[in-house]
Amino acid sequence: MRLFWHRRDLRVADNRGLAAAADDGTVVPVFVFDDDVLAHGAAPRVRFMLDALAALRAAYRERGSDLVVARGDPAEELPRLAADHDADAVVWNEDYSGLARERDARVRMALDEAGVARETRHDAVHHEPGTITTNQGEPYAVYTYFWKKWRDRDKHDPFAAPGADDLVAADAVAGDDLPSIGELGFTDPEADVQTAGTAAARERLAAFCGDAVYRYDEDRDYPAKHATSRLSTDLKWGTIGIREVYEATADAKSAAASDGDDDAVEAVEEFQSQLAWREFYTQVLWANPEVVSRNYKEYEHPIEWRDDDEAMADLAAWKEGKTGYPIVDAGMRQLKEEAYMHNRVRMIVASFLTKDLLIDWRHGYEHFKEHLADHDTANDNGGWQWAASTGTDAQPYFRIFNPMTQGERYDPDAEYVGEYVPELGSVSAENVHSWHELSVGRRRQLAPKYPDPVVDHSEMRERALSMFKRARGEE
Ligand code: FAD
Repeated sequence: MRLFWHRRDLRVADNRGLAAAADDGTVVPVFVFDDDVLAHGAAPRVRFMLDALAALRAAYRERGSDLVVARGDPAEELPRLAADHDADAVVWNEDYSGLARERDARVRMALDEAGVARETRHDAVHHEPGTITTNQGEPYAVYTYFWKKWRDRDKHDPFAAPGADDLVAADAVAGDDLPSIGELGFTDPEADVQTAGTAAARERLAAFCGDAVYRYDEDRDYPAKHATSRLSTDLKWGTIGIREVYEATADAKSAAASDGDDDAVEAVEEFQSQLAWREFYTQVLWANPEVVSRNYKEYEHPIEWRDDDEAMADLAAWKEGKTGYPIVDAGMRQLKEEAYMHNRVRMIVASFLTKDLLIDWRHGYEHFKEHLADHDTANDNGGWQWAASTGTDAQPYFRIFNPMTQGERYDPDAEYVGEYVPELGSVSAENVHSWHELSVGRRRQLAPKYPDPVVDHSEMRERALSMFKRARGEE
């Protein structure tokens, strides 16, 4: 008998560790609610996780088995569960963040002390951290080189799901009820969180690969087109396997190639390159666990972020989606309503917080962590530090997004703004994109309830440049 410990891999199909456990004996699947991990949780993610666990349990029940659930410190619970089920080994998939690695080290020690064998597999990424390196064997800090190597490496096929014969029979395990969100210390989120589970993830993948993937490179930056896969929360929680996702894209690419459609082939490759961004940031965090709270790139002097009362009032307006910059506000409201935000808009709101409000990226990261169902330490940190010009391969400090131009370019008809900012629903796209230039009287007339801009972009741009120059020791 072997325990398989589910963590961020809430599926039975294409699960490398689970397949390995099933190869070697009968598997008892377990999940442990760990209060240390829950302390970093947030309602949208906990909601998605609980729904994904319910779907996972249903998948086991369909196979005549059940998911064992426990609550407590995994370093105590796993040796206990192994003894209860007469298991001689525990198998799990690696997790690469600093917190997870510390916990796993403690679990390993506890299992060793209890005389229970342990095995791990690399599952969440195609190429585990430390395997794609520079010619000097260093982790990459520049994405383009990483991507070229990632693209050219062979990818593993999906792993088969275990069958009933590989799994412990349901009557041999206590399949306790899953706790409610309240029992875990959270209240149901206000946001409408995506449907969780492998079936929902597969539907998203099939819908995307059947159509939008062929135009991904052209459409992905336009939030109103809803032209991206929406798989980020599934990939975060592992409700779908990365090999299964890749295989679907490889099939789409072959179909486009056999039609001789080079543009479509390129579009699919562009999507695959986003999957590689995820693995790039995974290896950045793995090699530099401290970046979770520190700048990856330190300047000569500390960056003098604004942190006085006025700045905190601006931060509050940003969080509420009330900055008076329509595309920024639409993004922040999408986040609250859907526990998700489109990638282009994440870049715009992150740039606005750090370069227009001059507020430390860590405030933005914490807010995203609180509200995103797909919050992933590596990707979120990578995205924020990119925008703040403190990360690997980051936006240079002098390239500052203009939020109006970004809105005009990527939401030309102000459709996305209209979707999330009803106060501007009847305002023309032209006026939406020049909101900052309109007189106060005209603004009141057009949209009496929508705020005036909290700051002046041109002025703040100059201040941002000076702030970074001082940090660089140039002023
Ligand atoms: P698609 O465009 O369909 O991309 C497919 C998958 O590729 C995504 O699901 C994701 O797993 C990966 N991916 C795409 N873009 C990136 C990227 N830039 N970096 C890393 N992986 C990427 N992504 C998260 O998964 N979790 C986060 O917490 C997160 N925080 C972010 C914060 C900021 C400030 C920024 C700028 C970006 C952040 N991203 C994060 C990256 C990106 O915005 C999301 O992955 C993407 O919007 C999810 O939508 P999708 O699944 O439709 O993406």
